[in-house]
This record gives sequence, C-alpha cells and structure tokens, in this order.
Amino acid sequence: MAVIVIAGGGIGGLATALAVAAGGHRAVVLERAEEFAEIGAGIQLAPNGLHALDALGVGARVRGSAVHMDELRFMDGVTGEHVTSLGLTADYRDRFGSPYVVVHRAELHQVLLDACLAADSVELVAGATVTGYEQDDRTATVLLADGRRISGTAVIGADGIHSAIRGRLVGDGEPRVSGITVYRAVIPMERVPVHLRFPRSVVWWAGPGCHFVHYPIAGGRYLNLAASSDDGRTEAFAGVPVDTQRARREFATLRAARELLELGEDWKTWMLVDRDPVPQWTDGRVALLGDAAHPMLHYAAQGACQALEDAVTLGCLLEGGTNSAIPGRLTAYARLRRERTARIQHIARESTRLWHPAGAAATARNAMLSELSPRELQDQVAWMHGFQVAQPGKEVAA
Ligand SMILES: Cc1cc2nc3c(=O)[nH]c(=O)nc-3n(C[C@H](O)[C@H](O)[C@H](O)COP(=O)(O)OP(=O)(O)OC[C@H]3O[C@@H](n4cnc5c(N)ncnc54)[C@H](O)[C@@H]3O)c2cc1C
Repeated sequence: MAVIVIAGGGIGGLATALAVAAGGHRAVVLERAEEFAEIGAGIQLAPNGLHALDALGVGARVRGSAVHMDELRFMDGVTGEHVTSLGLTADYRDRFGSPYVVVHRAELHQVLLDACLAADSVELVAGATVTGYEQDDRTATVLLADGRRISGTAVIGADGIHSAIRGRLVGDGEPRVSGITVYRAVIPMERVPVHLRFPRSVVWWAGPGCHFVHYPIAGGRYLNLAASSDDGRTEAFAGVPVDTQRARREFATLRAARELLELGEDWKTWMLVDRDPVPQWTDGRVALLGDAAHPMLHYAAQGACQALEDAVTLGCLLEGGTNSAIPGRLTAYARLRRERTARIQHIARESTRLWHPAGAAATARNAMLSELSPRELQDQVAWMHGFQVAQPGKEVAA
C-alpha cells in the first residue's frame, strides 16, 4: 500500500483522496486553512463531472442536492433577443448519460468531505501550509511552513492556482491577469419576480465587452449572479466588495437584463486569472492536479469537472501500484490528462470572443448561433460534456 500525500483539501484534493483510497492506498490531505471548508457560490457540473463523482461513489448524493438544468439559454443582453438554447433535457441526458446540474460549491465540498471522513484510509490534516517538496529514490516529502515534514510514496499538488508544489515543479511565477473582472452576488429567489426566475436555466446575457450569467442554486432557493466586465485592469484582486451603483453602471449596456442586475446586492469582485498550459505536470514522485495543473477561466464551467476527472484517472492508474511503479504511473496520468485540459483552458480563454462583441459582430454571432440545430449545438460540447472518465477497477489505457 502506498501513502499518497495530497497538498490542498479543495474539490480536487478531496476527490483525489477518495480515488486513491478506493485504489487501496492511504491518503493524507494537507490543507492550509484551519478547517476543511469551501466558500463561494454556485458551480455547474456537466455530465462529465457527474460521471467522475459517480466513480468516486458520491454522484447520487450530489445529484440529490443539485438543481437539474433544462437549458443553457443564450440571450442578447442589449436587444433582449433569445438567440438560442442548448437543451439539457431527455435528448441531452440520453446522449451524455447524465443531467447537467448546478450545486452550491460548499455542498459539493461537504459531500466529498463526508466521504473522506467515512474512509478509514483517508487522513485529513488542517492548518498545514505546504511550502515545497523534496524526494529521493523511494519517498516524496512535503515541507510545511511550521517546519514539519510529511513523507509518502508520492505527493500530489492539488493546492490551487497559486500552488506551492507547482512553484517548485514548474516555476512559472504568478498567474496571468486576464483583464476581466467578475462581479458575483447571490439573492434569495423570493426577491426575484416570477417572470425572471428561469428556475431550470443557466442564462447568458451577452453584451459589448461584458456578459452576465445567472442560475438557481441551493435547491432553487437562491439565484447566483455572475457578471463579467472586460475592464482591462492589470492587478490581481479577490473578493473585493463594490457598491451597488458601481455594479449597475458597469453593466448598463446590458439593458435587457437590467431588472435582474438591479436585484443584486453585496456584489463582490474578482480579477480573473489563469495560466498557460504547460507540458510538465510531474517530477518523479510528484504530480500536479486540478487548478494547480491547469487553471482556467471559468467560462467553460469545467475547472472543477476537470479536477474530478483528474482525480479519478489518477486513482485508476495508481491502483495496485508498487513503490517503484509510482513515478511511471504519474507520468501516464499526466499524458492522459494534459491535452484535454489544455484544450479547455484555451476554449475558456477564447470564449469572450463569442460573448463580448458589439454591433454588427454581435448580430453576426446571433445569426450564426441561431442557425445551429439542437443536435449541432450538442455536437459543440459533446467532446467536453460527454466524456466518461474511467471507473476505478477498470483499466485505463496508459
Ligand atoms: C467564478 C468561478 C466560477 C467557477 N465555476 C465553475 C463551474 O461552474 N464549474 C466548474 O467545474 N468549475 C468552476 N470553476 C472552477 C473551479 O472552482 C475550480 O477549478 C476548482 O475549485 C479547482 O479545485 P482545486 O481543488 O484544484 O483547487 P482549489 O479549489 O483552489 O483548492 C485548493 C485547496 O488547496 C488549499 N491550499 C492552497 N495553497 C495551499 C498550501 N500552500 N498548502 C496547503 N493547502 C493549500 C486551499 O486552501 C484550497 O482548499 C469556477 C471558478 C471560478 C473562479
């Protein structure tokens, strides 16, 4: 039995602990925060993310607390035109084997945490800030800020976009500042007029240099609002409150969505950051996973889904792995995951070309999208949403 030391107890780290435990190993999860918890609002999970959760044995619980979506609805935020909808009902579910859902991020994290707490072979250590790693022929050791050293057979860096493990392994400095600020707010559904609720839709309102997305969370009790502005700011910041008037001014061009935007209160803002894909995910007994490996803008709604796919793939590959086999298994994992995640990083970055045009370019975009048949719309996302990660116990072609 190997001991897999995991830096970071977010969605990716906890999923990895479950996956390696299912493969017969021990997992030790080191989390910087004083307790294992998630903040933040809603998260969309496409069928590929739910398949990964099924493989981890928690898919049913997540589906149970999630809101199942019927459409991804695309609106012109200036004219109010309903451009098109990607249907998520029977056809989509039959084709991709699962619904498309939204959950509260804290609920998803809690489901993974409960499963880890119930697993004898998962150890959770809070208040453990990872600063780097060392390794030799047989062990990999995580270094902690308080001087402790935690050794295992392998180390997985699941410590997010500012990963200390990546800092040592790749050394590509600070994340790229995108120049796009996202404004987020959550409002109780009872405050939303009935005609604006779209209770089973993820709704996009596109406008010049900005767009606005909303969807219900927490069983439909709240509406999650996220509006993005291409404001070209050059500094990174996170969770900065802004006053309601400023949020309204920033998205004034989205006239058709104004009624909803005006319901938002307690807006907080984040500068979106990401990184370029890199070929190097492993160093001997050390590998990166989730946002530490492939941080992406959230526009494809796939960051967590990809972290879950990473975890299941890694768990499958490590199953039955002896000490000497581990570095090769980590290399195989990276080889299997790099291309797919890089493609999604790229698509997420490019997607504002679709959402943010103005004038004639926006009209041309609307025409192009509205000409796609329901099947053609599905085809656009099939490679992403329809992917079924290998299940533990089943062979993964390495
Ligand atoms: C606005 C927004 C909306 C999004 N929407 C979606 C969506 O709809 N669907 C989707 O699939 N994805 C979405 N994502 C992406 C998703 O949130 C991330 O991809 C996912 O959370 C990555 O999980 P992770 O565990 O790899 O990293 P993280 O969630 O960043 O977790 C890293 C963990 O490591 C800990 N940590 C960090 N540094 C250290 C250290 N030095 N030592 C120890 N512990 C450390 C952190 O405290 C944290 O617990 C969205 C992201 C954003 C920003």
